[in-house]
Amino acid sequence: MSETPSHLAAYAVSAANTRGRAIAEPMPAERSEFQRDRDRIVHSTAFRRLEYKTQVFVNHEGDLFRTRLTHSIEVAQIARGIARALRLNEDLVEAIALAHDLGHTPFGHAGQDALNACMQDHGGFEHNLQSLRTVDLLEERYAAFDGLNLCFETREGILKHCSLVNARALGELGRRFLDDRQPSLEAQICNLADSIAYNNHDLDDGLRSGLLALEQLDEVDAFSSHIKDVRGEYPDLAGRRLIHETIRRMINAHVLDLITETRRNIASAAPRSLDDIHAAPSLVAFSAGMHVQQRSLKIFLRDKLYRHYQVLRMTNKARRIVGDLFGAFMDDPSLLPPQYQQMATAGLPRAVADYIAGMTDRYAIREHRRMFAVGEI
Ligand code: MG
Repeated sequence: MSETPSHLAAYAVSAANTRGRAIAEPMPAERSEFQRDRDRIVHSTAFRRLEYKTQVFVNHEGDLFRTRLTHSIEVAQIARGIARALRLNEDLVEAIALAHDLGHTPFGHAGQDALNACMQDHGGFEHNLQSLRTVDLLEERYAAFDGLNLCFETREGILKHCSLVNARALGELGRRFLDDRQPSLEAQICNLADSIAYNNHDLDDGLRSGLLALEQLDEVDAFSSHIKDVRGEYPDLAGRRLIHETIRRMINAHVLDLITETRRNIASAAPRSLDDIHAAPSLVAFSAGMHVQQRSLKIFLRDKLYRHYQVLRMTNKARRIVGDLFGAFMDDPSLLPPQYQQMATAGLPRAVADYIAGMTDRYAIREHRRMFAVGEI
């Protein structure tokens, strides 16, 4: 066992003490194990696909809306800042953040719900588990193994939730769900950095799209307290700059609150090792006040943006596209590309789900047109 580097807390994950990779590899030169994980993720095909997958708005609806790629980069930025402040492993946090959405279907949650419904009798579909499946199995880049052969701790962080049935099938990696133990603080940080990122950028995209109006946000404390400050300091500020100045303060307030509260939790739990972190309750948290603000922001976004009729129209279309494609491939597997026909020998429904989950928004739309539009070739 090597020592924890001095800049890391004693309870941080250390690259020197990683539980390793499923297939042993020599140590990387001039990089840590988690830097190598991060690099493999950035070079993966699934990572490039994130650019064309929806967060809330479908990719072609506008050039400035977040995609899964820019979302993942924002999560990494937020998570790294928190990790550094708490003397945790920044390389690991970055790897987890960049990989956390690799398994997302096209069309965001609508696509995932549709695929899950299609897979009900075949083990279901969880995007989280699919992210793990992508890095463990589906990427085809290396001579010696399928997937990216990432370190245990990176895979643990990617799998943020998991049903007990699936946890049982995952062996060591699923164990914490059965034993009710926590993942590393690095993984816990990515989880909350994810929600800081999407709450704030969905609000920004909602305003940019015109589906949300500034006046509606008077009732949302997380926003209204900051915009009041900004208007007090800059009475003439308006438009995009007013929104950005407010949202940057919101993100900052979330991050600082999380760091302060987590520090307090760490001080009172007094962990001395990574094992203490696994045994303790979840230590990365917002203060009670910020937690309430976060919740009401989430509810606002759900009611006013995710359920906006214009978003629902797209969601509805997405559901149909995914359902139609799934049905057609199940009815006639010979319509699948050869690589997936090959995979289907181990089980058709999962191979179809893998194929559909890997599609970008526009690829799925095109594939649907190719399969169903009369007169299309
Ligand atoms: Mg995410």
